[in-house]
Amino acid sequence: MSQVPTPEELNVYENAEARFEIAAKKLNLEQGLYHYLKHPSKEITLYIPVGMDNGTLQVFTGYRVLHSTVRGPGKGGIRFAPDVSLDEVRALATWMTWKCAVVNIPFGGAKGGVICNPQKMSKLELERLTRRYTAELSNWLGPEKDVPAPDVGTNEQTMAWVMDTYAMHLGQATTAVVTGKPIELGGSAGRREATGRGVMMCCNKAIAKLGIKKEGCRVVVQGFGNVGSLAAELMHKAGYKIVGLADIAGGLYNENGFDVPKVIDWVYAQKKSLQDFPGGGTKMTPRDVLFQPCDIVIPAAIENQITEKNASQVQAKILCEGANGPTTSQADAIIDAKGIFTVPDILGNAGGVTVSYFEWVQDRQGFFWRESEVNERLLDVMDNAFDQVVRYAETHHVNNRIAAYMLAIDRVASALRLRGIYA
Ligand code: NAD
Repeated sequence: MSQVPTPEELNVYENAEARFEIAAKKLNLEQGLYHYLKHPSKEITLYIPVGMDNGTLQVFTGYRVLHSTVRGPGKGGIRFAPDVSLDEVRALATWMTWKCAVVNIPFGGAKGGVICNPQKMSKLELERLTRRYTAELSNWLGPEKDVPAPDVGTNEQTMAWVMDTYAMHLGQATTAVVTGKPIELGGSAGRREATGRGVMMCCNKAIAKLGIKKEGCRVVVQGFGNVGSLAAELMHKAGYKIVGLADIAGGLYNENGFDVPKVIDWVYAQKKSLQDFPGGGTKMTPRDVLFQPCDIVIPAAIENQITEKNASQVQAKILCEGANGPTTSQADAIIDAKGIFTVPDILGNAGGVTVSYFEWVQDRQGFFWRESEVNERLLDVMDNAFDQVVRYAETHHVNNRIAAYMLAIDRVASALRLRGIYA
């Protein structure tokens, strides 16, 4: 059998849709609501002119998809990457709707993206691109309309430019138009670690459920960026044994466990390659690390890592998804058949959007919380959401992923029934 998945299996929008279809059917969702929730409410394509440093004019294609504003303003990141596509942005916007509903925060779902290679652009070019993208969208964005955040290829600085451009158009400082900002501009304490912390909180709940002890519990993390490195660091500190790590250049497995703060120093302070970390371990491809012996596997890099072709190789007891869409819908049944306890992405990585919500709340009230308060509130949200998803799965005899979708769709559909359709 070929080891290469089909293009259909790798289409993230089709993957998101496949789970939506199953959940909507189980919920007996009315035909009208089904069609309404299946499609985004708005898709905007932009052709963004940017004066480049060498004096030429380049036109970039960008998108903003608003999937739903039923439960509140749209919420979702802006991705700058060469392989951005409308399908991908649409899938990510849809996931945001379900993610915000799973953790029960008052947002809908949205996502943006620009086809570009931020690694090959200067800071000034990125600033001009961000400002023009924001200016073109200024009628659609706003604290009560659609609130972006960072995603792959964008960061706190990008969000500061979005905030400033929007503020200049409106004629007033409006920090709540965007989250993931620098602390000095209304960012929240704890936002940087929030997604990784949320992943750990889900793992804590999952091991308690399965009766696994934290001390010595073996964890593999694929991806060593914001989500992966911070999840690994926090979990190492909490007593887990991090036995596998990977970034885009390669993976490392060491059954004795890694000293994660030392790996972070090696990669981020010393700017050395993760795979060359001198602490020992077996080198392998970034994907193979997912299939090593462990108790918990955390894909926290990119989409489509666990597929129909390789899912049978996963050895973990718990799959906790830090990335969006790391497991294809075709792989779900194989993971289920192996009895692996799954924390699906729309729950596992929801810590980030939850603290983004806290940031939006703090900006709007102009009063900021201590980091310990942020973390305490995050724990409350994540623990509740985890319990609700697991209870839903047990009551409806479905896996955790479908339960999370059902819970989310049910919440959005209930809100929609109450609001009614504006004629
Ligand atoms: P990031 O850019 O900070 O880090 C990505 C990491 O993945 C890097 O270490 C990179 O080397 C690695 N990587 C890239 N391609 C890889 C490959 N083919 N194999 C193995 N490793 C690879 O990104 P991030 O913010 O950590 O986001 C990671 C994932 O989590 C994405 O799917 C993102 O959408 C999702 N996510 C992020 C947040 C957040 O708050 N940052 C919130 C929710 C979901």
